[in-house]
Amino acid sequence: MPPSKEIETTNMKFAVKTWCKSGRARVGLLQFKTTTIETPALLLTTRKGLPAFISPDHLSFLPSPDSRLLQFSPMHFMEGPNLKTISNIGGVHQLLGLQGYGFVAVPRDSILSLPECYSSNKNGASFETPCGRFLVKPLEYIKMISSMKPDLWVSLADEVPASVTAKRNKASVDRTITWLDDCISLKPKDAALFGSIVGGCSVEERKRCAQEVAKRNVSGYYIGGFGLGDSIDERSTFLHAVTDSLPKEKPRQVCGLGLPEEVLQGIAAGIDLFDSTYIYHLTLEGFALVFPLNGMCKHDVSDPQLCAMASDYTKINLKATIYRKDASRIVDGCMCYTCQNHTKAYINHLLNVHEMLAQILLEIHNTHHYLSFFRLIREAITEGKFEEFRQKFIQNRRGHLFVASLTASELETSLR
Ligand SMILES: [Zn+2]
Repeated sequence: MPPSKEIETTNMKFAVKTWCKSGRARVGLLQFKTTTIETPALLLTTRKGLPAFISPDHLSFLPSPDSRLLQFSPMHFMEGPNLKTISNIGGVHQLLGLQGYGFVAVPRDSILSLPECYSSNKNGASFETPCGRFLVKPLEYIKMISSMKPDLWVSLADEVPASVTAKRNKASVDRTITWLDDCISLKPKDAALFGSIVGGCSVEERKRCAQEVAKRNVSGYYIGGFGLGDSIDERSTFLHAVTDSLPKEKPRQVCGLGLPEEVLQGIAAGIDLFDSTYIYHLTLEGFALVFPLNGMCKHDVSDPQLCAMASDYTKINLKATIYRKDASRIVDGCMCYTCQNHTKAYINHLLNVHEMLAQILLEIHNTHHYLSFFRLIREAITEGKFEEFRQKFIQNRRGHLFVASLTASELETSLR
């Protein structure tokens, strides 16, 4: 196996700036030629290179540089211009006209393509794409990466659901390591490569995969196989098994952790990068994030109206009739384009008439709100107050759920 040696990629630098005193959480600086961001950070999940519902001119409405790392799946381009054309144009930055953004290529589209245990085989991984399901071999994948020239790319992984047998889970680890070796031997010069780590719901396989990938010459790590049937209660054990097996100085990205408490759980385990699939699903369903940020919006947890509509503390459903005449902003004091210009009543109207502007406005607010959440987390780690921040968030949410359940039962009683 290749010896453990730090790779010097010319297009990526990462340095941990602050460690959380009582745990694994850390604040770091991730630098590419195109952009520099602080971690823990949110990568914006995209469809074909652009965040869903947001056109290039709307990207400037999002906080910068926090929003300048875009994640895409090379498989999304299978029906688009051929690889030679993309290469001739200069890669994905030039193709999309977003030279000031960092692009991260991840094989699986975390929105659409859920892994299946029988579609992949020892030759390659299977993906759902806009033009059907395809088996992608390492050599084909490297050709895509070479043409698209992302700032960072992730090796192929054989991700499987949590329900597979131990034998199939072990095979997924073996294949993922073999494909990583193929990716390393074929990789484009100077490209920053994250090695994929899988292992499902087995601490031993998670550790084995992490230890093997840690021996390879990679710039960082991509931890997959979460959010596929595993429970949030057991996840910390798996995350710790992985991050404790990895060198501390390299960045770690995770897939499948999206809810605020899942993000906090990942950061507590030493994860640096997350994707925004959660935001996409919220926006699609008409939800807006409203949980308090640093006292910016003070919700009274005993407010019966809020309890009825935002029954989980974090979000409200703007499709609800209660917002039809609501002239207030989604979040008072929010500096996003949506809250600066529009009311809940207008977005409720747009949702009810199926106008896509509703999703555009919601995506802008939700992304802005979640990026602010990440900023607060970084500040909490820097100030040595991350655990306090995390516990407070979880307690507020529990307290809200408790009051909401009381309100619901009171409403039921009053209706009898
Ligand atoms: Zn807003």
